[in-house]
Amino acid sequence: MSDFEGLKALVTGGASGIGLATARLLAERGATVAVLDLDPSSVDEPLLGHRADVTDDTSVREAVAAAVAGLGGRLDVLVGNAGVGAQGTVEDNDDAEWHRVFDVNVLGMVRTARACLPHLRRSAHAAIVHTCSVAATAGLPQRALYSATKGAVLSLTLAMAADHIREGIRVNCVTPGTADTPWIGRLLDAADDPAAERAALEARQPAGRLVTAAEVAGAIAYLASPLSGATTGTSLAVDGGMQGLRLRPEAR
Ligand code: NAD
Repeated sequence: MSDFEGLKALVTGGASGIGLATARLLAERGATVAVLDLDPSSVDEPLLGHRADVTDDTSVREAVAAAVAGLGGRLDVLVGNAGVGAQGTVEDNDDAEWHRVFDVNVLGMVRTARACLPHLRRSAHAAIVHTCSVAATAGLPQRALYSATKGAVLSLTLAMAADHIREGIRVNCVTPGTADTPWIGRLLDAADDPAAERAALEARQPAGRLVTAAEVAGAIAYLASPLSGATTGTSLAVDGGMQGLRLRPEAR
C-alpha cells in the first residue's frame, strides 16, 4: 500500500518501540519520515533522525524547524508519541515527579503540535495522531500519575480536533494496551519475578498476549492516512480487547 506516497511525517519518540515501528511503517507506505528523540543515534535510513527533548520548547522548535527543512519544507503528518511511565498510587510520587511526567507526556505533545501546526496548515492531508493509552479509559492499579497524563492526552486530542477541523487538520489518538516494547522490557526486568509479571500483563488482555509495536503502528498509520479523511476526534483501542470485552472464565 502506498497511501503515504509523497507525504512528509514527523514522529516523536521515534527511536524506539511504538514510535520506531510507526516511523518505519509510514516510510514503507511511501512517506518521508523524520524522527525526533532524546537519543536518535540508533535511527537509520531512510528515517531522518533529529535530537530533541520534548520538555524543552526551544529544543522542540529548533528540531521541528530542522526536520521540516530536511523534509523539503513541508509536513503532513505529526505523530506525538514520546512518553515516559510512572508507577504508584497518588501517595507514591512527589510533586516534582508529577510535574516531570506531565511535562513529557502532555506538554511534550503540546509543544510539538505548537511547533508543527504552521506547517500542517499548508498540507492538503494534515493529520496528528497521539499515542494515548488504555490507562486513560480503564482504572489500572499503581498507575495514578501515568493514567492522569494519558487522560489529559485523550481530552487534549478531542479539544485539538475541534480547534483545527476547519483548518483541515484531523486529530486522533490510539489507546494501546500493554505493548511489547523496550519500555515494557525495562519494567519486566525491574520486577521481582519478571516471568510472573509478564504472565499477569498478558492475562489482563483478553487476547491473552501483549500487543506488538507493529500493531499499534498499524492503527496510527490508519488514523494518519489520507484514506481516513473523515475520521477526527476519535480514539482507537489497540489493546487485545482490554477496554471493551468482559469474558467468562475459560471452561476447563
Ligand atoms: P519506548 O521507551 O520504547 O520509546 C519511547 C521513546 O520516547 C524513546 O525513544 C525515548 O528516548 C523517547 N523519549 C522519552 N522522553 C523523551 C523526551 N523528553 N523527549 C524526546 N523523546 C523522548 O516506549 P514505548 O513503549 O514505545 O512508548 C511510546 C508511547 O506509547 C508512550 O507515549 C507511551 O506512554 C505509549 N504507550 C505505551 C504502552 C506500552 O505498553 N509500551 C502502552 C500504551 C501507551
